[in-house]
Amino acid sequence: MRGPALYAARRASVGPHHRLRIQPRGWDGLSLADDAPIARYHPLADRAISQALRRRADEIEAAFGEIAPTLQELAPRQFAPEFAQVAAETMRARLKLEIPHAALTASWTAPLDMRALHARCVLGTFCRLIERAFDRGLANLSDGEPADALICRWGFHAVDITPCADGRLSGVTDYILRVPSSIVAFRESYAGAMFDVDNAVRHWESVELRRWRDAWPNAADAPTRYLKIGVYHYSSVAPQHEGCAAHGSDETRAASALLERLNAFEQAVRALHGAPASVATLLVGVDTDTDAIRVHVPDASGRMDIRRHVDSGSLYDATSRLPRESAKEAIRDAVAACAGASADDLETEGMRWFCGYLLKNNIGQVEAVRDWHQGRYADAGHTERLIVVGDPVDDVQLRNLAFQAQMRTVEEGADDLDVGIRILRAHHAPHRLPVPVLVHIRFDPRIPGAFAAAGQHARRLAAAITARHGVLAAQGELVVAAVVRAADGSVLTPIDLTASQDDAPPEAHR
Ligand SMILES: [Zn+2]
Repeated sequence: MRGPALYAARRASVGPHHRLRIQPRGWDGLSLADDAPIARYHPLADRAISQALRRRADEIEAAFGEIAPTLQELAPRQFAPEFAQVAAETMRARLKLEIPHAALTASWTAPLDMRALHARCVLGTFCRLIERAFDRGLANLSDGEPADALICRWGFHAVDITPCADGRLSGVTDYILRVPSSIVAFRESYAGAMFDVDNAVRHWESVELRRWRDAWPNAADAPTRYLKIGVYHYSSVAPQHEGCAAHGSDETRAASALLERLNAFEQAVRALHGAPASVATLLVGVDTDTDAIRVHVPDASGRMDIRRHVDSGSLYDATSRLPRESAKEAIRDAVAACAGASADDLETEGMRWFCGYLLKNNIGQVEAVRDWHQGRYADAGHTERLIVVGDPVDDVQLRNLAFQAQMRTVEEGADDLDVGIRILRAHHAPHRLPVPVLVHIRFDPRIPGAFAAAGQHARRLAAAITARHGVLAAQGELVVAAVVRAADGSVLTPIDLTASQDDAPPEAHR
């Protein structure tokens, strides 16, 4: 695409003051039948991935959606003879959960705690879906080429993603950015995406050590960089109310604080390991109402500006009727314009291609939201089902599924935990439902004693959460469960929070 059309595409998609405006489309809400005319869809939107992700979303929603009706049906029958057995069989059949009879035994003086049972089912369903092992390799190939080979060609050997802990970013890697797990070395979430720089440097060091020792994912002397991506978010529907809670719903504050943190990370690596150890950083914003992204493309010196970005939503509109190759070229040109570089500038080429890759991937998600949610999500706010603390869980992803806050101790993650509990309380309390919290700790099975240490760690974290929010826990407004899992992604082991040492039966703790 050249001339006026390209100029229009650039003008439509590049900041600084652009605001997304979605034009009504007559085809919104039409089903994606295989025989639907292809011209109705963006030439770069990968509909096969979108449809697979939608089937996954439907399965996840259905699994959680079955909990309340099942419990509502069982609750009035709890004093009937043989109820515990009937209830256990019903829950096994409908929720695919194994609930011990003891937890389903009621008497007229001690009726079932249906609120705790609901939280237990939410936690159990989340764990079941983790073990369901959804295919996270949908985006392994990009235009027929493996994504890990592509990013290497663009000058990167590992990608580290830090989004906000907000549950509306629960699908950030699989749905929004659509990057495969094969290229994501780390994904850790923090309230406001305010990661700890020291911890981020240790992550970088662990990747570099493997490059030196094992030449994995490539040799240490290969001229590639570690790429850290920070993801903030904002709301185009209600910018003053539905933005990032950790930054007072102020998108400028959210973006600038994260940019500052990314710059601090880059400076720290240089200070500790010298200029040759330079890392790359990238700032990305997500509109949680549409899943469109803003990519703050770095200039030739690597600098980013919160006011300078390429917006996938407007890029979608500007390129949706172009032939596929022209649409790709328009994206490349918009990215180059944002970087202030010419399209053939070799120094910025790798990062520009990576930015184009993210924008192209996200166009599929922009289209999916327009198709399946009539342009934007009906729920602009929070409807998270649980909080995950400890180590990250990426196996099951969906917008508004879980508020994830990574922490080793409650002391270091207190602010994040409090934000999460405040958010979920606002959504759960009106329904008189407690907030479910899952403590998730990973361990390396090759390290002697790591399993037992992980169990102790999980117990300490669970106890600290319960102690910090003691009033809520005592009132039955908070239900905490804990699991540990080997780093190779094997099955979850529930931790008995009532026992001091044994790690046998699953039990919720309140
Ligand atoms: Zn946030």
